Amino acid sequence: MSVVIVGAGQAGFQTAASLREAGFADPITLVGDEQTLPYQRPPLSKAYLAGKTDAEGLLLRPASYLAEHRIAHRLARGSAIDRDARRLILDDGTDLPYDQLVLATGSRNRTLPVPGADLPGVHQLRSLDDANALRAAIASAKNIVVVGAGFIGLEFAAVCAGRGLAVTVIEAADRPMARAVSMETADAFRIAHEAMGVVFQFRAGITAIEGHAGHAAAVATADGGRIPADLVLVGIGVVPNQELAERAELPVRDGIEINTFLATVDPAISAVGDCARFPTRFAAGMSRGDRVRIESVQNAIDQARCLAGRLTGRPVAYDAVPWFWSDQGRYKLQIAGLSGTGDGSVVRGGGDAFSVFRFRDGRLRAVESVNRGADHMAARRILALGRDLTPAEAADPAFDLKALAT
Ligand code: FAD
Repeated sequence: MSVVIVGAGQAGFQTAASLREAGFADPITLVGDEQTLPYQRPPLSKAYLAGKTDAEGLLLRPASYLAEHRIAHRLARGSAIDRDARRLILDDGTDLPYDQLVLATGSRNRTLPVPGADLPGVHQLRSLDDANALRAAIASAKNIVVVGAGFIGLEFAAVCAGRGLAVTVIEAADRPMARAVSMETADAFRIAHEAMGVVFQFRAGITAIEGHAGHAAAVATADGGRIPADLVLVGIGVVPNQELAERAELPVRDGIEINTFLATVDPAISAVGDCARFPTRFAAGMSRGDRVRIESVQNAIDQARCLAGRLTGRPVAYDAVPWFWSDQGRYKLQIAGLSGTGDGSVVRGGGDAFSVFRFRDGRLRAVESVNRGADHMAARRILALGRDLTPAEAADPAFDLKALAT
């Protein structure tokens, strides 16, 4: 049985590695369109951006790993799928036969739909190439504007502010990370960033990026303001790379639709990672139903492992607890579970180390821990086991979370 994987990122690479770990001995081809060995993205906005690790430190495995594990790495772009003939067609005109095809195409950044968004000096951050361009630009930047107060924009802002650079963050919502975290956590991060010198403009829109001598020079805001900017980072979210699936007439809706076994409607085609939308009990009661698309390393790795299990004869429904982290200045944020807008919150701890427990329909759904790793680890177990925790217990510092988690 031959396996072809499209996308040599976190999920695609992990699928190949987990197949070999599970004893799969048949051919594996990993098709990737980035001119590099598979690497981790999280450090791109953290240690790599700050110059604390080099490109080799980003690699998921050393260069020798792929050859030693007989994983063929093909530098190409998958452009079409012939489902009847079970062939993946590549953009170099060749094609690859498969028995099982895995779509691990990830996501790409949303672009800013305003004049000037394509000027030199306007950046995004998704790939190693993007991070290299940013590292070079930061070295000479005087005024930095970040568009979007999401995780990546804030991590970038923290690194720049840590170097003493002037940073303004423009955000359409009324607080940072508004879609992802509670009011309590958002407030704490706003205050921490402001203490580092970051200036926020909330409820703000952008109408243009103005240029001078062919380079970004200022950001024009909807209220008539003009913020000097020789470096603009656009971090306004991502969209899934689902076009390959769509062209092959596989169902897509903000992601490639898969079932709990990570298969599409075609039993020979699966999807994992950022590009996939799947059902999970952890999304129960959320406004968009119980199907989600998750952008995290945990999800990419766990789905890849789960899929490798099925492809080697050990099918198990995907049921991993979602978790995520973000490092910003002196704060390490760790989130277990999935929260939605309108979830009730209870805070445990305080100051620079606290956790926000979020409840929906009377049940614990997510825990945001700031500099409280032990709460995060307990929360992951409590959510996995489906244990009952009341808001009063969560808020009570004497209540033994660790005991509930065992
Ligand atoms: P990707 O890693 O994006 O890999 C997809 C690959 O497929 C890419 O190389 C893409 O070029 C390639 N591809 C796409 N289409 C094709 C095609 N047709 N043919 C061939 N190749 C194709 N997550 C966390 O949990 N914690 C963090 O702190 C964190 N920080 C992050 C910081 C940054 C700057 C970024 C960008 C992401 C961060 N993430 C973080 C998210 C995490 O990195 C992603 O969720 C994870 O990489 C998803 O893995 P993936 O394999 O699904 O997608």
